Amino acid sequence: DQTISRANLQAIDSAHHLHPFTDHKELRGAGARMIVRSEGPYIYDSEGAEILDGMAGLWCINVGYGREELARVAYDQMKELPFYNSFFRCTTPTPVLLAGKLAELAPDNVNQVFYGSSGSEANDTALKLVRHYWALEGKPSKRIVISRKTGYHGSSIAGASLSGMDGMHSQLYGAVPGIVHVMPPYSFELALPGESEHDFGLRAARAVEDAILEAGAENVAAFIGEPVLGAGGVKIPPASYWPEIQRICDKYDVLLMIDEVITGYGRTGEWFACKTFNIKPDTITTAKALTSGYQPLSALLVGDRIASTLIEKGGEFYHGYTYSGHPVACAVALKNLEIIEKEGLIERVREDTGPYLARALAERIGTHPIVGETRAIGLMAAIEIVRDKGDRSRFKGKHAGDKVRDLSIDNGFMVRAVGDTIIMSPPLIWTRENIDVACERLLKALDAAEIELRR
Ligand code: PLP
Repeated sequence: DQTISRANLQAIDSAHHLHPFTDHKELRGAGARMIVRSEGPYIYDSEGAEILDGMAGLWCINVGYGREELARVAYDQMKELPFYNSFFRCTTPTPVLLAGKLAELAPDNVNQVFYGSSGSEANDTALKLVRHYWALEGKPSKRIVISRKTGYHGSSIAGASLSGMDGMHSQLYGAVPGIVHVMPPYSFELALPGESEHDFGLRAARAVEDAILEAGAENVAAFIGEPVLGAGGVKIPPASYWPEIQRICDKYDVLLMIDEVITGYGRTGEWFACKTFNIKPDTITTAKALTSGYQPLSALLVGDRIASTLIEKGGEFYHGYTYSGHPVACAVALKNLEIIEKEGLIERVREDTGPYLARALAERIGTHPIVGETRAIGLMAAIEIVRDKGDRSRFKGKHAGDKVRDLSIDNGFMVRAVGDTIIMSPPLIWTRENIDVACERLLKALDAAEIELRR
């Protein structure tokens, strides 16, 4: 069919479609890969290539592709009531039922939900809400939010301001004021010679304390962080990091905003990574796997401390999106959570595939001459590409990460590159066999990349 031939689609794409996070001149040269079909853990491109999806779409397709049940509830809800808003003392049943379910799954002190359509919107809501909280509590000077370099919290102006990505900041032409960025817990590059993981974790956490002291605790509203920095390169903090962050936030009465847009709904082997790391959050931002990506939906989960002030003292909260609590998206989310629960996907990650992936990467990939480190938690993982395993030096000026990624995709395994870090985040339905195939395909890519990079 000419209308959907790759060449035809690529021509329209080049002429009319601006892609997210894309250099369009580069894209025009190469042409976009057209993903046209999917099933279970696989995606298929327009040329018929079967690709094992190591990124779960974009950290979201936790229950895998091709779920009839999700299509069916969306269809049924669209027929019954495709949309009605939750403004002005109205709502519809599915956002209500989903809020109840989320309160049941969330940490004990978290019982309220505010909906949006994306993680960016949820973080905008969170930022407004924490500052509003302090104003309602009579401490309007508490406005500064501390975040981390290489953290990712979205692309809206507030999301990009909270994010610690230099490239994004360079195009903001005026970030949201009052956001400070400190070092991330990334021992592979930032630990000092001879420094233990434990000591490095404490030092990275104390960068937050230093920032609080510099600004004055009376001016600091909150700390925001992903339990595991995701888009920044799956940076898994040492065990000492989060307890120290919690201690510091408690000491200076700084709220804890946890961004679980990636980690929420099972990725680290618990419903929320707050449980994995024993964090007591004041807000939890979630999106992506809430619907396994089958519908756009985010839920900001709000802790009792903030919620009770907002409800008791706040009057009207002047904030909301047309699609806050979209009935179809919420119906899909309810069914998605039911699937995750019924199929025991989180237990599987925690007890079987998570540990198996960590072992497989360490034993089969970590021994490769151009791999400096592998790390994994649940089903999210990173592989550091280096020129020299001994001193961890990189291949300068060679885009080694992009090379490994491209070769891996050509071999039928979808991964992503963040600089020279290869990252993966597969669907939670992955089996040990999927992990074995991923390792085989990645290993082939590493072998081919090594030859090209050392040339
Ligand atoms: N927060 C984190 C941790 C994310 O990884 C992302 C997206 O990747 C976002 C927020 C932004 O979510 P969205 O792209 O849905 O706006």
